[in-house]
Amino acid sequence: MLGNDDQGGTDYGEIQDTKQEMVRDILALTIDQAKQLRRGDILHETGATNEDDTCRRWRVNGQVKLWKRDVNRIQVPLSHGMYDHGYLTERNLCEFHTEGSCSAK
Ligand SMILES: [Zn+2]
Repeated sequence: MLGNDDQGGTDYGEIQDTKQEMVRDILALTIDQAKQLRRGDILHETGATNEDDTCRRWRVNGQVKLWKRDVNRIQVPLSHGMYDHGYLTERNLCEFHTEGSCSAK
């Protein structure tokens, strides 16, 4: 029978979301990449674009902080422009990618 493999609930929108998540996961920084970051390195924010369709760029503006007792924890200070500051942590690695892996050149 046709449609047997349709378990219901999978509409076009969900497929799109899954695709976007896959793209994001492929691009996503790994914690090991994040540990290699140094002051002055540039990260791109995935899905956040400037008016010219280039990625929003964040600059590492301090030391990478690591925890000896928890190797899965990381904190990297970032800045965007003059006034925007934030942190890359183990929780938002998936929201950033490196310049090298950028698909929107
Ligand atoms: Zn990019």
